[in-house]
Amino acid sequence: MLERLLAGVSPEIGRILEAALEKRELDERDASVLLSAEGADFFALLRAADLARSEDNGDDVSFVVTRNINFTNVCYVGCTFCGFSRHRDEVDAYDHPLEVLLEKARDAVARGATEFCIQGGIHPGKDHTHYREILLALKREFPAIHLHAFSPEEIDFGQRKSGMDLRDYLRWLVDAGLGTIPGTAAEILDDSVRAIVSPRKLDSARWIEIVKTAHSVGLRSTSTLMYGHIESVEQIAAHLDVLREIQKETGGFTEFVPLGFIHERNILFNHMHARPGASMPEDLRMIAVARLFLRPWISNIQMSWVKMGPKLAQMALLAGANDFGGTLMEESISRESGSHFGENLPQEEIRRLIRAVGRTPVERSTTYQTLRRFDDPAEDPPSLEPAQPRELSGPARWRLTSQP
Ligand code: SF4
Repeated sequence: MLERLLAGVSPEIGRILEAALEKRELDERDASVLLSAEGADFFALLRAADLARSEDNGDDVSFVVTRNINFTNVCYVGCTFCGFSRHRDEVDAYDHPLEVLLEKARDAVARGATEFCIQGGIHPGKDHTHYREILLALKREFPAIHLHAFSPEEIDFGQRKSGMDLRDYLRWLVDAGLGTIPGTAAEILDDSVRAIVSPRKLDSARWIEIVKTAHSVGLRSTSTLMYGHIESVEQIAAHLDVLREIQKETGGFTEFVPLGFIHERNILFNHMHARPGASMPEDLRMIAVARLFLRPWISNIQMSWVKMGPKLAQMALLAGANDFGGTLMEESISRESGSHFGENLPQEEIRRLIRAVGRTPVERSTTYQTLRRFDDPAEDPPSLEPAQPRELSGPARWRLTSQP
């Protein structure tokens, strides 16, 4: 198999892929070389990553039924890639009261959610108590739902406001119901890139400190990277190496999620000459290299259907990914930057997309426990989504006779 895979491949790429498939650790230079693979090398990379995925995870593809709850879009940080944030005086700025968050949560639970993913802007009028109030209110009404909340940027802001030691602050949030944290706000863990994409956000060292401390108090997190803007392949490789080293030390990452830059509606592309997001080959190389570079330390590689769209997400499942992410139900962060792939992907649609590439859908918890397998489509449960009348097109008489 290995010989056939490597036929026609350049010697250097062949050597790296062979090492990865023999489970030898790749170094940063290897990752940079793979991130530039083209032609036969590119296809061999995808195939090798798919083989590794099959060895590491089998043919199950997991997903989580979750709702994004963004409690405010008011933020003073001013990241140049962000289309989501607003000044508090703007007409479409919002700062939801707890009752609105609870309404969203009730809707999510009625649609089968096991997780709420809670993030917001950094509102200058709030402090650490606001984060705890959100957790307490949600946990009081939904004790069984996992609260996946607050990026390292939000943890940094809240902890500094609180005056508490970081470890104590994190425990204070856990005590209020925090289950895991998103490993967002990482972008690229290189301060020369951060100076351009997120100059007022926490720096790399602080991101690492917060994530490691969270892991040390039993708070696991995802790990992420944002690519397709101004970064180089070397900076991506170095970022992956940082994540791998953290994982060796703490074992606290549940998964790695590469996030493609959405460019249409933000300053970074329109005024600062960033690239217009990743190309399709870059998206697939990113997934494949993550699979090969991070094994065996991080074995869950998630693609983002919001960034890639459902069809490229299916292709990512053939290039090393084993996790489809979440239903999201109300995605707005990517949409506000110009993503066109919708706010919600119902679980029945996720199952269909997974089965269409010959894999088995499995609903998971936030921390990757299997909650339900869907081996037989005939035994799928009915949809929990609210009925939406489908707008038909075509000759009017057909449309009328097709209505129930
Ligand atoms: S990415 Fe987050 S911290 Fe940065 S401006 Fe947007 S909402 Fe604020």
